[in-house]
Amino acid sequence: MPLFPDEIAAWNMLFWGMMVAALVAFVTLFFISAPHGRTLRKGWGPTLPATLGWILMEAPSPLLFALFWAVGDPERRFSAPGLIFLGMWELHYLHRAFIFPFRRRGGQPDMPVLVLALAVLFNVCNATLNARWLYTLGPVRDASWLHEPRFWVGVALFAVGFAVNQHADHVLFNLRKPGETGYKIPYGGLYRFVSCPNYLGELVAWTGFAVATGSPGAWAFVVWSAANLVPRARTHHRWYRERFPDYPPERRALLPLIF
Ligand code: NDP
Repeated sequence: MPLFPDEIAAWNMLFWGMMVAALVAFVTLFFISAPHGRTLRKGWGPTLPATLGWILMEAPSPLLFALFWAVGDPERRFSAPGLIFLGMWELHYLHRAFIFPFRRRGGQPDMPVLVLALAVLFNVCNATLNARWLYTLGPVRDASWLHEPRFWVGVALFAVGFAVNQHADHVLFNLRKPGETGYKIPYGGLYRFVSCPNYLGELVAWTGFAVATGSPGAWAFVVWSAANLVPRARTHHRWYRERFPDYPPERRALLPLIF
């Protein structure tokens, strides 16, 4: 049941707030790159160690989603689709929050507290938007949802996107020997075609989640991710081209042959 009488109205406001914020972020990030990783620079206030920052900024997402699953309607959370959605979310976010930060090698410039705060705000809003809709506020996804082709198309897309993201990040981590810093040109897999297959995989995975759930909250997440990752891929791609004269000329930023 709703947590308070007007929760559906509040959910709608959150949805539209995230869409507007995505538009603002998209336009802003074409002019000002987010200050983390290779684009970190001075002037963004106090910082904290990157590994701690990653854990703190990503942890709210798997924890809140699991909490809202636990307090959701039993017929939604114990249905097969409800459990599969939980599995997809937790697979991605438990890795992102608690494993990914320890797989990164070398360098790891500190993270501005401002970036951490904005990411925590996003993760709290996003997990709330998605989990409350799936497990309490939206239409029931019971076992009959398993007969919907879009459910399986979405699950397959998620699996492909997750694998692409994992492989691409794995290639990046292995560019540096333990303790080494600096940047090299990544090769292999989808790096043949684009500079940022990790971002492409991330976008495909969450598009799959949105198709599988049919949730407007999940589509808001896709829009938000694209608003972040499209400008970031463009920045990375330009950075590679400026820094490495031998950078493969046929490579695009994010979408093979297109962008
Ligand atoms: P990056 O590609 O900038 O960096 C990932 C890791 O690889 C970092 O440790 C980085 O080191 C290292 N690295 C990157 N390029 C090279 C290179 N050429 N040579 C050596 N090491 C390299 O990814 P992000 O930090 O932007 O994102 C990390 C993950 O989070 C991705 O999987 C991404 O999809 C996801 N993400 C999702 C978002 C969403 O909105 N859904 C938003 C942002 C990220 P260093 O830190 O020193 O640069």
